Amino acid sequence: MKNYSLLINGKWKCYENLNKIYISNPATGETLGSVPDLNETEIKKAIDSSEKAFRSWANTTASEKSLLLRNLFNLILEQKNDIAEIMTLEQGKPLSEALSEVIYAASFVEWYSEEAKRVYGETIPSWKKNNRIVVIKQPVGIVAAITPWNFPAAMVTRKIAPALASGCTVILKPAPETPLTAIKIFELIEKAGFPEGVANIITSKAELFGNVIMNDKRVRKISFTGSTNVGKLLMKQSSNDLKRISLELGGQAPFIVFDDADIDLAVKQALASKFRNCGQTCIASNRFYVQENIKSLFIKKLKKEISTLKIGNGMDENVKIGPLINKQGFNKVMDHINDALSKGAIIEYGGKPLQKNESDNFGFFIEPTLLSNINSKMKVSNEETFGPVIPIITFKDENEVIEMANNSDYGLASYIFTQSLSRGIKISEKLEYGIVGLNDGLPSSAQIPFGGFKESSIGREGGHYGIEEFLEIKYISIGI
Ligand code: NAP
Repeated sequence: MKNYSLLINGKWKCYENLNKIYISNPATGETLGSVPDLNETEIKKAIDSSEKAFRSWANTTASEKSLLLRNLFNLILEQKNDIAEIMTLEQGKPLSEALSEVIYAASFVEWYSEEAKRVYGETIPSWKKNNRIVVIKQPVGIVAAITPWNFPAAMVTRKIAPALASGCTVILKPAPETPLTAIKIFELIEKAGFPEGVANIITSKAELFGNVIMNDKRVRKISFTGSTNVGKLLMKQSSNDLKRISLELGGQAPFIVFDDADIDLAVKQALASKFRNCGQTCIASNRFYVQENIKSLFIKKLKKEISTLKIGNGMDENVKIGPLINKQGFNKVMDHINDALSKGAIIEYGGKPLQKNESDNFGFFIEPTLLSNINSKMKVSNEETFGPVIPIITFKDENEVIEMANNSDYGLASYIFTQSLSRGIKISEKLEYGIVGLNDGLPSSAQIPFGGFKESSIGREGGHYGIEEFLEIKYISIGI
């Protein structure tokens, strides 16, 4: 079994004398290797290295940064199949999905290799005669990036690429379930030619890492993707020395289907939105609002399509749904299904776990599940399920569905299916969500400002907005 090394200060080190964190395949239980569980001293060494590297990286020309990011983009694409395989083994998603994620991850690196050249400032007409006003943008400093397990490559590049493009140095802590994909990306960061210390990768206990970075004033920015609870904790901790903070947190997306929708399109997009990564995505549709006069038709068509989805090990051909990441995730999804059934829901399809031995700590498969007769008291109506469950809720008219859809503490993604342009635009504007997929179930890309309202986000990732999160604005008043 391989003990993986970490890239810190330009050197790969195995830390044989420290404790280990073991990584296993969620489909088979096979142990894939281990990564070091770094202690405080080693985490601090990474911060020292980031600080030293920042002095020169912040002053590297835009075209040099751009070129290195372009090298990284090319390397990720060259090795996309290898990265995808690592991802499926440690995360469980089907190989074809893993490959799409790697290409999506690479697209952030390409985008920010171009944005690196466009960190424009501004001149402003002065109120004084012998004075000029110039505004410039400068990197915020050392960034601590913390990522979840559901997108082991894309969540890493969505943070690292804009941070490096802006002139920041980065310390990444990937999720303990999926560090191997991140380590592979760091191999390519080194190969691309980035100077030592510009990007460091840490694996350690989360709480320790959180405490060390929060108590070090040199770390100026936290970029976190994960659950809303942890995001709130980090926000509190970062207030000590007012670190900049970006948070990409949970969601509870409404998927609204009107009776004038292209139903076949809505069904196809519902499947893509719900069953990608076994429902474990922050923009996964969570609540399905279907206009009451098309409920039967929608359910009939959905059932037909769901029945074609093959469940299994993501490495096997044609598998469309892999396992849940772990027991905790599995228990939550089963709890949501059972809670709904106990309150009157009807199973239209699926609903059962497919784990062979209850004692096993792997193979947490759940049938894709379609539930109807849902009411507002059920957990599926109020919490992020993060699993392959579609609860169908009916509505009468626009006002009713807008109220139901907005009745959430989350505000990340939302979806509307209608062929009426004016209805689509009106409802898009009324939904309290950062992302609206209007006849589109897969709205993510490198170009867009990804993020949400309410308790889903602070800041935006992606597009030209994403780089701003890593920049400070400086105004220079020039007497002439
Ligand atoms: P999580 O439990 O919050 O963990 C996310 C990361 O934070 C992990 O690396 C975790 O490490 C670390 N962490 C936990 N406690 C910490 C602490 N006190 N200090 C520093 N780091 C800490 O979330 P998850 O279960 O991995 O991810 C699923 C959640 O992420 C869902 O709610 C999903 O909606 C959200 N998500 C949001 C987006 C978005 O763009 N909005 C994208 C993807 C996922 P440990 O595991 O070691 O604790």
